[in-house]
Amino acid sequence: MQGLMMDRPLLISSLLEHAESTHPNSEIVSRRCEGDIHRYQMRDAARRSRQLANVLRSLDIQPGDRIATLAWNGYRHFELYFGVSGYGAVLHTINPRLFAEQLVYIINHAEDRYIFVDLTFVPLLEAIQDKINAVEGIIVMCDADHMPETSLTNVHCYETLLAQQSDDFSWPQFDERSAASMCYTSGTTGNPKGVLYSHRSTVIHAMGSIGEEALGLASTSCFLPVVPMFHVNAWGTPYSAAITGAKQVFPGPGMDGASLWELIDTEQPDLLLGVPTVWLMLLNHMDAIGKTLESVQNVVVGGAAAPYSMIKAFQEKHDAFLIHAWGMTEMSPIGTVNSYNAVMASLPLEQRYQLQLKQGRPIYGVEMKIIDDKGESLPHDGVAFGRLLVRGPWIVSSYYKHDDNSSFIDGWFDTGDVATIDENNYLNIVDRSKDVIKSGGEWISSIDLENAAVGHPDLVECCVIGARHEKWDERPLLLAVRKEGSWVSEDDIRQFLSDKIAKWWMPDAIVFVDELPHTATGKLLKINLRKQYENYLLE
Ligand code: ADP
Repeated sequence: MQGLMMDRPLLISSLLEHAESTHPNSEIVSRRCEGDIHRYQMRDAARRSRQLANVLRSLDIQPGDRIATLAWNGYRHFELYFGVSGYGAVLHTINPRLFAEQLVYIINHAEDRYIFVDLTFVPLLEAIQDKINAVEGIIVMCDADHMPETSLTNVHCYETLLAQQSDDFSWPQFDERSAASMCYTSGTTGNPKGVLYSHRSTVIHAMGSIGEEALGLASTSCFLPVVPMFHVNAWGTPYSAAITGAKQVFPGPGMDGASLWELIDTEQPDLLLGVPTVWLMLLNHMDAIGKTLESVQNVVVGGAAAPYSMIKAFQEKHDAFLIHAWGMTEMSPIGTVNSYNAVMASLPLEQRYQLQLKQGRPIYGVEMKIIDDKGESLPHDGVAFGRLLVRGPWIVSSYYKHDDNSSFIDGWFDTGDVATIDENNYLNIVDRSKDVIKSGGEWISSIDLENAAVGHPDLVECCVIGARHEKWDERPLLLAVRKEGSWVSEDDIRQFLSDKIAKWWMPDAIVFVDELPHTATGKLLKINLRKQYENYLLE
């Protein structure tokens, strides 16, 4: 027997309609490429998203067509999130930090018809315009006064196009399983792979990610997403903000410590979201100017493991709780969140920090299991570790126009991560399977070693890779960036690590470097380092 309830489609436009009628006064503050701070309210965003939909109609965009963006976090990007998907086209957010060849690859692979671009990234497109011939036009996200001199052909001005259109537009109703947006993985090996989100997956993910067990967003929240809208949908926060009406503060191009602090100081957000490298910069800046983050209550950290020293610094210097989260492009992206709960409240601080090091528990909708090399499920005892598989309504089922199905196993997605899961379903990412160090048949977590080492007060950043070893196959090699002016020695670091890690985990070599390479999403780019240092211990 079927239930007798209405079957209204879960469409992204319904989020905006809800926001406009329920939270019309919610504020959206953006640092613009033009250099100033822009403010408006949700009602303005909704009105302009409808004008944008009329722009798409005037450009003869058809349902399912791909419309790309190359843009920072800002209000115009927010309008594109709703205007493009609401119209029925597919919003393709491009990561501007990708290499030029990768940009060319994904623009052509996605067959983008138009690209909306922030002023900052116009030169990126100029450099590759000969190789993206199928793109019909470029729309620069600024007003007529700020239009740049450019060699790009068929260029339009965002504000001029919008001004020509009425704000009268009825959002079309269609199948909630239709594609809404897409994002390519960074492709540290091979070409990037496209993940195609649907309206349904996006809306369910947004509903699942707002509660206390997840990001804890409410109408009274004010949050600053440093996590980019050009990758992993800023962790879905534009959509969850539409549901809750939380105030949004968009940092635009100002991702450095000083610019972030300026916005935090004026807008007083209670929630920050971003990857660890961003917070390292902010924490260093706060130390340098001797100020604390008064308004901030929670900092969501994901994309890479949050080190112990960061959890402690936020808590003890800034009275802010670090919410450790894990996810990936293929998961829309949220998988697990380590939110504050009654158990944590009862723990002594040190034990609480140890629990916060874990990546948290799945939010409703995400199922997880770990398997061994034979594909057998492993126990959830916090000790056994294996390949992490996930499934759920906002998890990828296959890549866009891609034949390789090796990540999809019996309805589960293989994350490429190695993890433990404990009795209470807390996930602990041991490593990415390609980064784990295989020393004499035993595994060493490069993440745990990095996090222990970066706790040294004289080190800014650390990276651990497996280097080839005659006897043990692989042994850990630590690459470390010293703080400016520091001459901390290898022996000092060994001494520091000696009571923090198992003896056999001690790196065989410690190499000081001036800087470490990062991927387009701000993570350590280990692939190049492995090539460079793989024979270091054999020499
Ligand atoms: P990309 O593949 O483009 O770098 P993703 O942002 O999708 O981008 O990366 C997902 C991966 O990042 C995960 O599979 C995991 O290895 C890593 N990751 C994400 N969050 C965490 C975390 N909190 N701790 C450790 N690793 C994490």
